[in-house]
Amino acid sequence: MSHPDWSKLAEQKIAALRDAQVKWAALPVQTRVEKLNAAKLAILARGEELAQLISDETKKPLGEAYSAEVLAVGDIFNYWLKKGPDLLKPRKGDVPSLEMPGKKAWVEREARGVILCISPWNFPIQLPMRTVAPALLAGNALLLKPSEVTPKTGVWLVERIREVIGPVIDVLDGDGAAGAAAIEALPDAVVFTGSTRTGRKVGIMCAERGIPCEQELGGKDCAVVLADADIERTAAGVAWGIVSNAGQNCSGVERVAVSAQIAPQFIPRLVAKLEQSAKDVPDLVTKMQRQIVISQIEDAIAQGAQVLTGGLPQGDEPIPPTLLTKVPRHAPAWKDESFGPIAVLEIHTTEEQLVSAANDTRYGLGNSVWSQNIDHGTEVARKLRSGMVWVNNHSFSAALADLPWVGIGDSGTGMTNSPDVLHLLTRPRLYVTDSNKDLEPWWYPYGPKLLDLMRVLVSRQQTGGLGATLKTLGALKARMKEIKS
Ligand code: NAD
Repeated sequence: MSHPDWSKLAEQKIAALRDAQVKWAALPVQTRVEKLNAAKLAILARGEELAQLISDETKKPLGEAYSAEVLAVGDIFNYWLKKGPDLLKPRKGDVPSLEMPGKKAWVEREARGVILCISPWNFPIQLPMRTVAPALLAGNALLLKPSEVTPKTGVWLVERIREVIGPVIDVLDGDGAAGAAAIEALPDAVVFTGSTRTGRKVGIMCAERGIPCEQELGGKDCAVVLADADIERTAAGVAWGIVSNAGQNCSGVERVAVSAQIAPQFIPRLVAKLEQSAKDVPDLVTKMQRQIVISQIEDAIAQGAQVLTGGLPQGDEPIPPTLLTKVPRHAPAWKDESFGPIAVLEIHTTEEQLVSAANDTRYGLGNSVWSQNIDHGTEVARKLRSGMVWVNNHSFSAALADLPWVGIGDSGTGMTNSPDVLHLLTRPRLYVTDSNKDLEPWWYPYGPKLLDLMRVLVSRQQTGGLGATLKTLGALKARMKEIKS
């Protein structure tokens, strides 16, 4: 299809998924566990093929394709297949037995229906997997809209799962127009991961249609290096945070705030680690992103920045791991997401200044604090404004399915991973049964004893205790007599 009719295609796919979802949700959860486990095994059996495909489409070194993507399939499935059934169990509701006798309440977590998952290209397996596994386990159908930059990987993932579990998962392999058409086809919830700019558009489209939507967006993480940081480990960890996945990581380290006390020893070690990593850092995946990063470096240099290592690439060479300092706060390299292997470094004398530098951003995905005193590092971490904060590490928790991946501010309103995602992927359905044979004290006809009872109940809320309970029993008895007279 040269110009696919995305609206028609999206409507057809969502309608077919809607049919398949009803049967899927009616299966016992244990049957869904077994089928999804079979899908997991089918994917992992072809792990080498998957790693190679990811590496071809994203330029990631094969080791990163394995560590961040193939392994994530097993980890994320294993978590949800083990923990999911308990997390989905009905919850008993609390109903006061004295004034509301005979009632039982419980809340079941019901699948929403069809979930639309719109994904970026930088982690083309791990990111969709964070929604695919819990959404399917909970009884939803799922439509994946992978990035147009990595379409083969997204299609591959869906094909492998669909071969095993049937037509309860599908893929809409297209660009932004396909994503927009999929929202217009009215899925029951949308999980969006991508840039802040697109996320805003998606959020508006969903709000206009009353579709619940969560958004995981860009970041501008800071590594805060305190005076007592372990220099070697911190330099290695911060360098990895800057350049892994060639810096195309929503939670990559893009700013470093370092204590003046440790700066003279720390900076040369960080520079050495960055230079050492250069051979493992491929070029950026899209030309547009490369141009953004190059123009940030050019602009910073034009504004007086000092290049500590790296800088502008030679010709078509990959952008080298780059560390800049003396960058003005209004420069794009400081305030905008870079999404490349570059970071901006500032030196400060007090911890308040370090914290204030880290918080000087409208993003708020992750930050890290580096200190040999974990308690103190944690105290400093509490002052940082972000959804996640790591002490003595950065960003590695992305594929740990129990831990929320979550931002604030321009990093989005949403989250993936952790039991909390079930709030979006399922809806609570309340059931109440009543075996009370009597009238209810709040029914008609009203009378003075109703008011007496209400006053006693309000007083009981304030004091509690046996005396208040006895008074309540007396007031209830009087009210029941009144209602039946
Ligand atoms: P992007 O916003 O360009 O695209 C993301 C997805 O949205 C793609 O599938 C794209 O086709 C689709 N899309 C584009 N326009 C759309 C529209 N109008 N309606 C619906 N869908 C539309 O992002 P990208 O360049 O693929 O990814 C990089 C960005 O993603 C970076 O900003 C990065 O920080 C962010 N990201 C965030 C997280 C996180 O968890 N917070 C994780 C990875 C990447």
